[in-house]
Amino acid sequence: MKDMNILEGIEISDIREDLICYSYDSSYAQGNIPAFVAWPKSADEISKVVKWATNRGLKIVPRGSGTGMAGGAVPVFAKSIVISLERMKEVKEINAKNFTTIVEPGVINGELQKELQIYGLFYPPDPASMDYCSVGGNVSTNAGGPRAIKYGVTRNYVMELEVVLPNGSIVTLGGKTVKRVVGYELKELFIGAEGTLGIISKITFKVLPEPEEVITLLISFSELSKAGECIPYIIGLGIIPRTLEFIDDTCINLIENNNNLGLKKDIEAMLLLELDGEINSIKRQAELVVETVRKFKGEVQVATDYYSRENLWKARRSISPCILKMKDKEKINIDIAIPIDNLAKTLVSLKELSEQNKIPIISFGHAGDGNIHVNILVNKNDETSRKKGFDLVKKIFELTVSLGGAISGEHGIGITKKPYLEIQLSRKNIELMMAIKKIFDPREVMNPGKIFS
Ligand SMILES: Cc1cc2nc3c(=O)[nH]c(=O)nc-3n(C[C@H](O)[C@H](O)[C@H](O)COP(=O)(O)OP(=O)(O)OC[C@H]3O[C@@H](n4cnc5c(N)ncnc54)[C@H](O)[C@@H]3O)c2cc1C
Repeated sequence: MKDMNILEGIEISDIREDLICYSYDSSYAQGNIPAFVAWPKSADEISKVVKWATNRGLKIVPRGSGTGMAGGAVPVFAKSIVISLERMKEVKEINAKNFTTIVEPGVINGELQKELQIYGLFYPPDPASMDYCSVGGNVSTNAGGPRAIKYGVTRNYVMELEVVLPNGSIVTLGGKTVKRVVGYELKELFIGAEGTLGIISKITFKVLPEPEEVITLLISFSELSKAGECIPYIIGLGIIPRTLEFIDDTCINLIENNNNLGLKKDIEAMLLLELDGEINSIKRQAELVVETVRKFKGEVQVATDYYSRENLWKARRSISPCILKMKDKEKINIDIAIPIDNLAKTLVSLKELSEQNKIPIISFGHAGDGNIHVNILVNKNDETSRKKGFDLVKKIFELTVSLGGAISGEHGIGITKKPYLEIQLSRKNIELMMAIKKIFDPREVMNPGKIFS
């Protein structure tokens, strides 16, 4: 490699084995093997790599842990450099008086959670991938998780961002106060931008005091529609659960056949509902929830201690790994978000679409905020089956938008959902987004080929 002196001390590779490892993420997106991968350790090093790469005409692909489900970290162009943030994983500050933490982008979400717990603090966004995904990736995809129904998504916790722009300059956006009205709040643009505007090199998150207690309820339904119908009634009680997860019958059978956790198999759906707060208050809330779900013929099992709670969550978190064990199937995963008053209708429509098109669909997800993970199972290496699967994706997105929903609740658009963007957004809307990108990235070097470009 020539003209590398500017990069002295920065780890960078053009070895094929390394490049192959950085050419995919957790989606089915297919891109290109990049020309280089770099592992900077500071904003200054990121800036140097960005300047070096753009001078050589390389496109830049920021990457956290590669758990993305939309191909956001997959290089579209072979003449690319992947900038991996995985070596920037220091928790720089935990401030238990301002309720903030300052972290590098490569910090793993679950590790941050554990470190904060030592100080009695709590960072709510909890993607199911929390043991592997980076907080930089979380900010860039505006990740959500089961707790979003009560606590919101990543965006609600980002206070300040340090960002390396496509020209290599380093800027700080936002601030450390809850209130702030000082011109345009530019940091918001970088949240959910999927690495298309710049590289996040430092984040200040808001954190909360840890809730006193948690109660977990597992609710089984012998009728699918009842699981969806009862949700607005639970929230209507004035109770916002900390999680309200939905699992359908195909999923339940899959989990049980793989893990033997003792789940009922002769039901159509399950809800995993958690309440947190002061113990007497949440006990009373739990009683009200039980009364309500019984009206919808739901059967309740309560877990009050850590181990029985973890057992239930083990079931929920094992869904994706169980699906991956179906060796003859490829899953097309989409994560639609539906206004919750249309949730029951959507769940039933998904079953009908699966039967009409003779393609298995496994649905589960964050029912409390209407975010459903729809897994369309097609036969591996069978182009006809894959095509039928992608035709079904289009039908589901059209249904979603017609019901007032969003074609992605948390995974983003990346490469995989780009062909469907106009089902959701008007041309004018897309053009506005493109114009904003041009201001930050006039040479179109930062993660091109994603979302709309
Ligand atoms: C089993 C499983 C379960 C999942 N569950 C959830 C869930 O419950 N909720 C949810 O929201 N997601 C979930 N995901 C998806 C994924 O974990 C999230 O999108 C996560 O936020 C991605 O983080 P990452 O570090 O892996 O990012 P990557 O996959 O590496 O990158 C994702 C995007 O962010 C950009 N990016 C990464 N780091 C930076 C940075 N520092 N600066 C600028 N751009 C950057 C990349 O270019 C890319 O566009 C799940 C994935 C798996 C495999």
